[in-house]
Amino acid sequence: MWAKVLVEDIKHFLEALMKFWSNTTGTTGNTTGASTSKPTERQSDAPSQFTKNFCLTMLTQSDTATRLGINNSPIANGELFVVNNLEQLSVKVLEPVFALLKGDYMYSGGYRCKPLNDAVGSSDSSQHRKGMANDFQPKVPTKANVESAFQAIKASDIPFDQLIIEGSRIGTPQETFWIHISYDPNKAQQRRQTLRVIVGEDGKNRTVGA
Ligand SMILES: [Zn+2]
Repeated sequence: MWAKVLVEDIKHFLEALMKFWSNTTGTTGNTTGASTSKPTERQSDAPSQFTKNFCLTMLTQSDTATRLGINNSPIANGELFVVNNLEQLSVKVLEPVFALLKGDYMYSGGYRCKPLNDAVGSSDSSQHRKGMANDFQPKVPTKANVESAFQAIKASDIPFDQLIIEGSRIGTPQETFWIHISYDPNKAQQRRQTLRVIVGEDGKNRTVGA
C-alpha cells in the first residue's frame, strides 16, 4: 500500500514538473520574441544583402569617405530610412539594369552622408543623400560604352526616376563619363527623366535633356 501511494506521488510530482517546465519554456520563448522586436535591437538587424548583386556595404562604399576618414554608414549616421531606399533602388532599378547590361556594371557611388556630400561639393537635395541614387560605369568606361549603356537603359521599361550621363574633365585627355540612375520609393510614378551633363563655354557643368 505504501508503495502504491509512493508511485502515485511520484506520478503527480512528475506531471507537475512537466507542466512547470513547459510553462517556463513558453514564457522564455515569449520573452525572447518581445526583446527582438525592440526597435533599438532591430536596427542592427537591417538586411544587408538587398538583391543577388547589390548590398548595403557596396552602396555605401566611397573611396573619398575612406580617404577623409568619414564614416559613410547610414546606420552609424542615424539615417535608417536610407537602408530602405537603397533596397528599393536595388530591387526596382539596379538589379534589372545589371541583368540588362549582362553584368557589365562597375560601381562608382551610392549613398552620401552629409559630410561626404559636402566634401564632394554636392547639394543637400541630391538623391545620393537619401540613398536613392547610384553612379556606375561599364567595365571598360569609354565614352561610347557609357553612351551605349545609357541608350539601352533609356529604351528599357526599367522604372528609374532619373537617368543621367555625367562627365568630368570633358574635352581633355582625362575626360570621364559615368551613369547616374535613381529611384524614389516615395513617388507613386517615377519621372523616367533622361538628362545629359554638358560643359558650357564658361567651363561649368550644365544638365540638359537627353
Ligand atoms: Zn550621381
